[in-house]
Amino acid sequence: MSTYRLGTDCVQGGYTPGSGEPRQIPIIQSTTFKYATSEDMGKLFDLEASGYFYSRLQNPTCDAVAAKIAALEGGTAAMLTSSGQAANFFALFNIVSCGDHIVSSSSIYGGTFNLIDVTMRKMGIEATFVSPDCTAEELDAAFRPNTRAVFGETIANPALTVLDIEKFAKAAHDHGVPLIVDNTFPTPVGCRPFQWGADIVTHSTTKYMDGHGAAVGGAVVDSGRFDWMAHADKFPGLTTPDESYHGITYAEKFGQGGAFITKCTAQLMRDFGCTQSPQSAFYLNLGLESLHVRMPRHCENGQAVAEFLSAHPKVEAVHYCGLPGDPYHALAQKYLPNGSCGVVSFELKGGRAAAEVFMKGLKLAAIETHVADARTCCLNPATSTHRQMTDAQLAAAGVPAGLVRMSCGLEDKQDLIDDIEQALEAI
Ligand SMILES: *Cc1c(COP(=O)(O)O)cnc(C)c1O
Repeated sequence: MSTYRLGTDCVQGGYTPGSGEPRQIPIIQSTTFKYATSEDMGKLFDLEASGYFYSRLQNPTCDAVAAKIAALEGGTAAMLTSSGQAANFFALFNIVSCGDHIVSSSSIYGGTFNLIDVTMRKMGIEATFVSPDCTAEELDAAFRPNTRAVFGETIANPALTVLDIEKFAKAAHDHGVPLIVDNTFPTPVGCRPFQWGADIVTHSTTKYMDGHGAAVGGAVVDSGRFDWMAHADKFPGLTTPDESYHGITYAEKFGQGGAFITKCTAQLMRDFGCTQSPQSAFYLNLGLESLHVRMPRHCENGQAVAEFLSAHPKVEAVHYCGLPGDPYHALAQKYLPNGSCGVVSFELKGGRAAAEVFMKGLKLAAIETHVADARTCCLNPATSTHRQMTDAQLAAAGVPAGLVRMSCGLEDKQDLIDDIEQALEAI
């Protein structure tokens, strides 16, 4: 594990060139790798030796960037995936299968909710959703004998709720299963969920990690702390021989620190092929090099915009855990002491019509289906992602018609506030 501080790992983690080698991570744009003998290559197929043979499974550029992300999260191993959706699917499907059950926070990204609630149900995997604010007893009651994983988001997109990671980790461990946390919004700069008991961390690297809206991607990181062998009956995929890999038992051969990611690569990447391209991994690495410099600015801008909005007479409510009156402020002080993220959501007085006028009036903040990059953008769910719903349905889903989600970029905060102010005047 890295002995450097986070900022140093952002810049230099994962890749240390030898004498005369490229300073920048080389983009190994090659599908395949050459070997002198079939025997040499055979050892790789049997997982007897480590090395590269086909970029669907592993690629040196992607591995270097994954190693950097593992260092940033304080994990033992990591892998890149083609998207955040693939990362969450892989993290879950690596340990749950038909007949198993997942406990998940209900306050999660819509795509992940659909993955668990619709697509994974079709695969015979059951799920129970609990409020992130539930009591320990309510959480406990969600478990079944066939529960195999617990899932939540450190800061949920778009609800901006903060997960009580220790509460969810304790419940998971009391039932002998791991906690998987999607840490996309805070990034390891804001929170390192392994410190609070999470076992597996996932990312949509599409967001702040890339940070420039350049490449879609994801990552899965293992803390190496979950003892699969101690719960061998629950996780046969890790603790009994894999006949598709010559009878290897992952938890024995690769130990607690390597089993999860090795199995995920050897089976799920082999069979589903959700690989990140080396070119995208290169862009992601450029973003990671400045992550520790960019995140404080996103947080500063988010805080300034949230404070301005909360004092404005045309604004009904502001959701941002950095505000002292926010219901998640106490949890944010514990888990996100250095700031949360740049995403702020707020409700305008006057509902849908007011939101439409406001959005039309913005000059600097662009209307986009995206969050968490260098340029400020915003979205009104009622007129875009949720436009098929009536005002009553929107209210029931916790997305009032006048709700605007604004992702504060890296611009000067006074220009962002001036832009918001003039757009509010038009209402
Ligand atoms: C965007 C997002 C995802 C999905 O990631 P993609 O890279 O778009 O597939 C998952 N989780 C969270 C918290 C997100 O914000």
